[in-house]
Amino acid sequence: MHVERRSEPPFSVIMAGYVIDFHHRNVCTKCGDDGCPRIVEARKTLEAWRDRKPRREGR
Ligand SMILES: [Zn+2]
Repeated sequence: MHVERRSEPPFSVIMAGYVIDFHHRNVCTKCGDDGCPRIVEARKTLEAWRDRKPRREGR
């Protein structure tokens, strides 16, 4: 039993994906007329994850 960290995104990123997906259909308690702070937070997390491509690992 070993942990593969490479292919799987961190839990926070997975949760962020759920938040975005959730808001496609529903609203949460924090949703307002100007949008939702949870979506903003989730997008930041996802963007940070995408920008985090490993440049160092060259072959
Ligand atoms: Zn919301």
